[in-house]
Amino acid sequence: MTDGLEPFELASLITAHDDGNFAEAVVPPIFQTSLFTFSNYDEMIASYRGEKVRPIYTRGLNPTVRMFEEMLAKLEGGEDALGFASGMAAISSAVLSFVEPGDRIVAVKHVYPDAFRLFGTVLKRMKVDVTYVDGRDEEAVAKVLPGAKVFYMESPTSWVMEAHDVGALAALAKQHGVVSMIDNSWATPYFQQPLKLGVDLVIHSASKYLGGHSDVVAGVVAGSKEMIARLKAEAYPYLGGKLSPFDAWLLIRGLRTLPIRMKAHEAAALTIAKRLQELDVVEQVCHPGLANRLPSGLNGTSGLFSFIFREGVDIRAFADRLTLFKLGVSWGGHESLIVPGEVVLQQKAQPNSAHTFGINPRSVRLHIGLEGTEALWKELEEAIAAAS
Ligand SMILES: *Cc1c(COP(=O)(O)O)cnc(C)c1O
Repeated sequence: MTDGLEPFELASLITAHDDGNFAEAVVPPIFQTSLFTFSNYDEMIASYRGEKVRPIYTRGLNPTVRMFEEMLAKLEGGEDALGFASGMAAISSAVLSFVEPGDRIVAVKHVYPDAFRLFGTVLKRMKVDVTYVDGRDEEAVAKVLPGAKVFYMESPTSWVMEAHDVGALAALAKQHGVVSMIDNSWATPYFQQPLKLGVDLVIHSASKYLGGHSDVVAGVVAGSKEMIARLKAEAYPYLGGKLSPFDAWLLIRGLRTLPIRMKAHEAAALTIAKRLQELDVVEQVCHPGLANRLPSGLNGTSGLFSFIFREGVDIRAFADRLTLFKLGVSWGGHESLIVPGEVVLQQKAQPNSAHTFGINPRSVRLHIGLEGTEALWKELEEAIAAAS
């Protein structure tokens, strides 16, 4: 695996963003303020007229948040980006900026559960229909795109890890005049840069790898100036899910180590996935890196994957024996995590819905953290032996 980022993109993570006002601090200050004052009437009226771009109120523009947005835009190869208070705020603002009653969107199946719920509740009430399609079946995608407003993708998906040819799907969307967007939380810009593959908007739950330390809930959307301007005009300031300055500061800190963290997650997770695949009690390992080749545009794999036990393994006994792996949702931090599929299936996708996100009740999702491959493997091997 070569570095997924161009040298200037890597450097932009490390270099201090001192515009001359930060006393050459290597770590930027946090602008932990709700408002910014004006020294006189003329300065204030010039800002309101838009003649001078400067912070007025943090829900609109905050220098710390802006610094994170500029870093992320560069990393994704975009012109601009917008930070949000959560990944879901990013997803809802992005989608709601492009639809009105009577419209239809297309989404790949097995999207993040709360995105599925957003489409089934808020969008449904707005009379926006959703067509789900298998993102691996390009013919099926081409059939359902005509007339849609948005094509919502996620690749790889975050439980069954279905990986799509993102460039090919983006080209189909373009051909049919459909705005394409993708949840890139799993791969991060280090391994996949969807804007360069022709996708219009890239969305992240920054709570995962971008933050990388399990101490932030945040989101971000990147794209062209025009696309981001549309979000600013249609949804972003009014839905109000603004990223806070302190969280932006933590994200700036997290981004600096993104490349080395992703390499470590990739190596450890691939090793463990391959060893699991060798075990008799394991029916299937769902990890895109185990296929003959990765889909074009995906240049590496992260630390999140799942596997399915054969019948007869006591998953409760397995889970309770683990100590380095903690039982917990989310992922993308330094710590290893496990989520049993049968636990997630206790929560319905939606009232009266039998949808299961493709989750097998005998599956287990692992996030491989940074504790060390051999220590993690020893513990997994022992827990599996004890439970089978
Ligand atoms: C966590 C997650 C989200 C939602 O992000 P939040 O920051 O929790 O709102 C969206 N997509 C994927 C793939 C996720 O894992």
